Amino acid sequence: MENSYDIAVIGGGILGLATARALNERAPRARLVVLEKEAKLATHQTGNNSGVIHSGIYYKPGSYKAKLCVEGKGLMLEFCQKHGIRVDHVGKVIVATEPAELPRLQTLYERGIANGVPVEMIEPAQLREIEPHAKALRAIRSPSTAIVDYKEVCSAMTRELTARGVTIETNARVTSITRTADAIDLETPRAVVRARRIVNCAGLYSDVVARMAGARVNLKIIPPPDADRAR
Ligand SMILES: Cc1cc2nc3c(=O)[nH]c(=O)nc-3n(C[C@H](O)[C@H](O)[C@H](O)COP(=O)(O)OP(=O)(O)OC[C@H]3O[C@@H](n4cnc5c(N)ncnc54)[C@H](O)[C@@H]3O)c2cc1C
Repeated sequence: MENSYDIAVIGGGILGLATARALNERAPRARLVVLEKEAKLATHQTGNNSGVIHSGIYYKPGSYKAKLCVEGKGLMLEFCQKHGIRVDHVGKVIVATEPAELPRLQTLYERGIANGVPVEMIEPAQLREIEPHAKALRAIRSPSTAIVDYKEVCSAMTRELTARGVTIETNARVTSITRTADAIDLETPRAVVRARRIVNCAGLYSDVVARMAGARVNLKIIPPPDADRAR
């Protein structure tokens, strides 16, 4: 059958593209497709976020979030360097403006140290030198936090995927998922796409897609489904 793949990734944000990339690295011969409902990739969270490459301060030491944030930051910088994507190493300050926030600031500082992230506790005078518009009782300086344009990152991933033979379909909203005896049929406006496995990377719609696939999902992504989400 035409439109037949080993794996279909639903969602063309950074997670869908990075998942397709990782699958292609592990199984270069697998036939992969990324299905994105919009006309362009990365138009939802990925293309509208703050562009921060987080350093790993916030997460509980020892957790996967902490470990993967620190590891992911290194990999993201490597990827950007390889593809000539501009990264601004602007650093970041986290401020406590009221006495009640000081213990939380201290906790973040300790987490940063425990996670192996360079952090420094600074006083108001040092803060003014870094950011004259900020006022605080104390602040944390995180020199390794950086910013990048994640749309550019996604464009580079897309070029790489296309060059490796991965199919990327836009205007391909998955509207129904049907399991057959030996495959999974995904209905999209242009065609039925058949895959042996699917990966749900539909971002804020991933609960809708999971239900479509027959999963019993005991959660709801807020805000609740609007007319667009319900489709
Ligand atoms: C305001 C804001 C600021 C943020 N700032 C940062 C930051 O500075 N740094 C950082 O690292 N993270 C930040 N994040 C988090 C980050 O943006 C997200 O974790 C990341 O973009 C999620 O990527 P995603 O691919 O899962 O989701 P998305 O980018 O939302 O992609 C999901 C894709 O799935 C598609 N889709 C949905 N349903 C279907 C369907 N049925 N069929 C086909 N396609 C479908 C959508 O059209 C969409 O393109 C921020 C998030 C927000 C909301």
